[in-house]
Amino acid sequence: MKELNLPLIPVRDVVIFPNAVVPISLKREKSILALEEALLDNKQVFLSMQKLSDVENPNPDEIFLIGTIATVNSVHRIPDGTINIVVHGENRAEVVKYSQMEPFYKVVLKVHEKENVELAGQSEALLKAVVEQFRQGLALGKTIPMDMLPFVFDTSDPLKTLDVIVFSLDLTTSEKQRLLESNSLLERLKIVSEFINHDLSVLSTARNIQDKTAEELGKSAKEAFLREQMRTIERELGIKEEQEEYAEIEQKIKNGGMPTDVAEKAMKELGRLKKMPPISPEVSFLRNYLDWLVDLPWKIVKEISVDITKAAHVLDNDHYGLKKAKTRILEYLAVQKLVGKVRGPILCFYGPPGVGKTSIGRSIAKSLERKFVKISLGGIRDEAELRGHRRTYVGALPGRIIQGMKSAGSKNPVFMLDEIDKVGNDFRGDPSAALLEALDPEQNFAFSDHYLEVAYDLSDVLFIATANSLETIPPALRDRMEIVEFPGYTEEEKLHIAKDYLVPKQLEAHGLKKTHLRFEDDAISSIITSYTREAGVRNLEREIASVDRKIAKAITEGKRIPDEITPRNLEKYLGPIRFRPWALEKKDEVGVSTGLAWTEAGGDVLSIESTLMNGKGNLILTGHLGDIMKESAQAALSYARAKADQLEVPQDFYKDKDVHIHVPAGAIPKDGPSAGITMATSLISSITGIPIRHEVGMTGEITLRGKVLEIGGIKEKVLAAHRAGLKTIIIPTNNQRDLQDIPVKTRKDLKFVYAENMDDVLKAALVHYPSFQYKSKPEIETPYSTLA
Ligand code: ADP
Repeated sequence: MKELNLPLIPVRDVVIFPNAVVPISLKREKSILALEEALLDNKQVFLSMQKLSDVENPNPDEIFLIGTIATVNSVHRIPDGTINIVVHGENRAEVVKYSQMEPFYKVVLKVHEKENVELAGQSEALLKAVVEQFRQGLALGKTIPMDMLPFVFDTSDPLKTLDVIVFSLDLTTSEKQRLLESNSLLERLKIVSEFINHDLSVLSTARNIQDKTAEELGKSAKEAFLREQMRTIERELGIKEEQEEYAEIEQKIKNGGMPTDVAEKAMKELGRLKKMPPISPEVSFLRNYLDWLVDLPWKIVKEISVDITKAAHVLDNDHYGLKKAKTRILEYLAVQKLVGKVRGPILCFYGPPGVGKTSIGRSIAKSLERKFVKISLGGIRDEAELRGHRRTYVGALPGRIIQGMKSAGSKNPVFMLDEIDKVGNDFRGDPSAALLEALDPEQNFAFSDHYLEVAYDLSDVLFIATANSLETIPPALRDRMEIVEFPGYTEEEKLHIAKDYLVPKQLEAHGLKKTHLRFEDDAISSIITSYTREAGVRNLEREIASVDRKIAKAITEGKRIPDEITPRNLEKYLGPIRFRPWALEKKDEVGVSTGLAWTEAGGDVLSIESTLMNGKGNLILTGHLGDIMKESAQAALSYARAKADQLEVPQDFYKDKDVHIHVPAGAIPKDGPSAGITMATSLISSITGIPIRHEVGMTGEITLRGKVLEIGGIKEKVLAAHRAGLKTIIIPTNNQRDLQDIPVKTRKDLKFVYAENMDDVLKAALVHYPSFQYKSKPEIETPYSTLA
């Protein structure tokens, strides 16, 4: 074995085999110097792959020891300094040692002479096997340049055959390096056989997948064919079914009690349907339409005679209190009985949530033995929601009124239009127009729904609307309605409702018996005051349900449960107390007055504070007040200024002062004129320095001359004041008559002051009346000592 001393060029990502002709680009300085040296000598270089291709300047131990001696065939220099060469692999060789390190590597090599192979025994067999495998590969779709094919099958030069096969295999550089490093032909054959085997399995898997896909394709074509056949059969059978179905629809049209024009229209559409090819997409639309027509209740109802005594009984049985509402409802029913049909205005139950509006509606239906349906109008902006979309729309349906009639299944249900005050209108049309038509006895015998296309008679329906506030009901609608007020409940009433209705109802709903659990009265009162803050009883019911749920769970888990719910064990079931009672001011203070407010959730109590500070006579208002409330603050200030003399303050007290009025709970928007006297009182207290009695609450509008005007929501406000522990309530004289709605017991706890004008208010609210202030109580500090 001869030894050579040659320049070494490390190459990246390429293994040069003997006999191979390979182009290489040289960039690195060291490589170029090595090439220059080779070109000077016999053009021979030693090419060996570096172990990691991204190393720029590999050390000897980063270059494989076995590589190939190659002759440089051509050299092409490129302006950027790169040199492209083409090399021809000669012999495999192994580095014995590095003879030179700088400026380029030179190595002493042990040359492996080309084998003079005599194929025999194992090698021969292996070569045959490899060639056979290669043939299989070709059959599976392997590709190879045509001109190389002969070398594969002519095995007279086994080395050449092997080289060509290796060339055609998709090997990684490390696999190639492994081949290069193998010492004998036999070993190389083994390696190639291994690789080609792998190649074959990849090819056959790919082939399998291909075949499968082809098979699938064949299958789906077959399926499509079968399905088509099936469809034909189905069509044959289907015609029978369809005919049955059509006959059924026809029957319903004839017996459904439809008015003649509707029946005619239905028959016409049915005729159209029958003629349609079953695959036409219109079939389902048309069938849907006919379903709606025949499913709607059309039959004329015989007027069921209204039994007022029975109705009264049902209403009383189902609901505690609500005397006024019940009386009004019974009167309404009585009139209806006499007149025969609903001709008058429709009823609108008005009040905060949870006061029993819906459930009394249900009771009315029960007492009249009619069906009850409820649709919610909250947030409806589009007339089409009430009146339906025309059939030309994809997915069109009738509007909610007709949908409600279908679910009622009778022509004379009690139909509740919930939250009629929350109907909006915009560019999509005005839903209240559809409502007007539905509610107007002059038109509602022929209500038109866009989807139905035929008129529907709503005149037997007993409509009842509900609303939380009256202001937002469109005036035209409001005119059609008679308002039945559902004010909030007192704590006493709530306790009764809970004991007699809500607790038994929820026990039953949770599968519990009266023997399982009792609610102590005090516990219910605790829930009312500490866990809920509402005018109605909805949350109260929810909290009771929540206790029951936990008890039921404890029972199923075999845990011990208490016999009674008491204020003490309540926290265990409902968690920590959620509301502390409104904190009544502990002492009489200057500038802090107590107002009574009405909200959609019932009444509330709020403090109004005012203060004076150095400034320029500005009025500052804070606490998220609405325009009306701001104006009423202005009016209060103007009144105070006009009355400066009487209040015994300097005429120009405001000249270098700013007045700040704040209504706490600043995040909650507040509006309305009814805080007028409260703001004026607070202001006058600040100006005069006279404290306000802390147990006095008030409500009323104020005019510039100090007259006190009537306001609304008295019952809710008084109940809230009572809840909060106030003792004296100032209300406008004209509201006196509203007090009769308030339970006597509550009324007795309170002292009412009826105010005609601001003087009446101040007399009751201030600790003492201004005209005595400096004389009788000189010790009270006033901010005006500095003002004069
Ligand atoms: P609304 O429709 O006014 O919002 P609901 O009719 O839904 O209120 O009433 C809430 C719950 O309170 C219902 O379970 C109802 O039965 C009950 N409820 C309200 N008021 C009474 C009452 N006076 N007597 C008995 N239960 C009542």
